[in-house]
Amino acid sequence: MKSSIAPFHQRESADVLIVPVWEGVSLGKTPGLERAARALAATGDFKGKLGETYFLYPEDAVEPRWLLVGLGKEEKVTAESLRRSYAAAAREVQGKQGKTANVLPARTKKLSHEEAFKASAEGLLLTNYAFTRLKADSVKENPSVLLEKIVFLDAKASDEALLSKLETIASGVHFVRDLVNSNADDKTAPVLAKMAKEFEREHPRIQTTILDKKKLEQEKMGLLLAVNRGSSHEPCLIISSYKGDPESKEHVVLVGKGMSYDTGGLNLKVGDGMLTMKCDMSGAATVLGTVKTAAALDLKVNVTAVAPIAENCIDAHSYKPGDVYHSHSGKTVEITNTDAEGRLILADAMSYAVEHLHPSCMIDVASLTGAIVIALGEEIAGLFAADDVLSKELMSASSAVGELLWAMPVHDDYRESMKSEIADLINSGSRDGSSIKAALFLQEFVKDVPWAHIDFAGTCYLSKPKHYYTTKASGFGVRLLIEFLEQKAGRTS
Ligand SMILES: [Zn+2]
Repeated sequence: MKSSIAPFHQRESADVLIVPVWEGVSLGKTPGLERAARALAATGDFKGKLGETYFLYPEDAVEPRWLLVGLGKEEKVTAESLRRSYAAAAREVQGKQGKTANVLPARTKKLSHEEAFKASAEGLLLTNYAFTRLKADSVKENPSVLLEKIVFLDAKASDEALLSKLETIASGVHFVRDLVNSNADDKTAPVLAKMAKEFEREHPRIQTTILDKKKLEQEKMGLLLAVNRGSSHEPCLIISSYKGDPESKEHVVLVGKGMSYDTGGLNLKVGDGMLTMKCDMSGAATVLGTVKTAAALDLKVNVTAVAPIAENCIDAHSYKPGDVYHSHSGKTVEITNTDAEGRLILADAMSYAVEHLHPSCMIDVASLTGAIVIALGEEIAGLFAADDVLSKELMSASSAVGELLWAMPVHDDYRESMKSEIADLINSGSRDGSSIKAALFLQEFVKDVPWAHIDFAGTCYLSKPKHYYTTKASGFGVRLLIEFLEQKAGRTS
């Protein structure tokens, strides 16, 4: 897909022209739409409500169809409402199998030019995605649902660079969606390790280190090794570092849960609960996608993705409920439920990161608990942060990009319930407050590093499409973390 900018009067032919319309504002002000404006005013067929769409077929335009897209009331506009309107437009164009679009970005005094342009473009770019790899070859080679060329009209010269940046970020989101949507068998630890190693060829400032099973044994990462025991693939720890600011000591470490598949282990999940479990490596995909994107944008930050990759399977070698395993940190863990495996592999990864990578802050991202889905649904992820500064920074990034976080308590008193009689900790307590207890478990392995935990079990994989998120893998988190890194880069430079 290629997007560019052009003046309105120099636009070339395209399958559609996208025309934004404010609710309650007469179309008569838009050149060429006077007749349609009168007809629509008379019939009331299109009012410009948020996300409303209407096709017109003008006689003398370079596009055979114009798509009116409602932006809602101008006084209520936000970046998010614009993203949603343009997402609705993208879906309509996909429905007509449109390949090329001329687009008028939204204009409003309520937002800066950059904000409005950015949100308009994001809505289109993020929606312009289809996962066709597992379809028949004819469809795979010709995914007719996608736009191949988007030209933004009447933009500013500076929008060109912004557009290129937005395309890079959208590619990062699509990279994560592709990974998460892939078959579990196609993203095992060895496959993901090889892929992350390839990052080095994409950017000279990325370095990827892989700890294979032998190294994990030397490092005494007993929890990661235990979780993977039932799998026919060897586990690994992927460490992908991008040094965009070599002079600075600041180092953001992002840790992502990478269960390439989670059956629940001997505490086997029931059928429906397993159906989505190829998404259980979304955290790993997100942190790797973020580092890849940060490098592609040449951000002035140092950021490392740490991704423990394992597969939780049933086998004679599977790790067992009731047994106690040694973590990398030295703490021992009694397994009370083999399906609470994500926190185990994260614990070893974070403990390793604290000891070897000198993080100035650490954020882990994980599809960790079903309880967070019950609490916050598919549109909001849980943020557990014991560090106020980090919490504020993430919240600020969240509101800028529209990927919602809700601050959950890291309630110390519940720590008692994660104690074991025969080991230092149990891995799974009672169901009440179980997302909080999972966070408290993780906190045992971060020492004094400023740390935040994002439980995005609800937002990483969707049961139905929502605005600019497509069904299944959403890619949620990449834009949030890139914005967080950009804000950080802005503060230090
Ligand atoms: Zn599990």
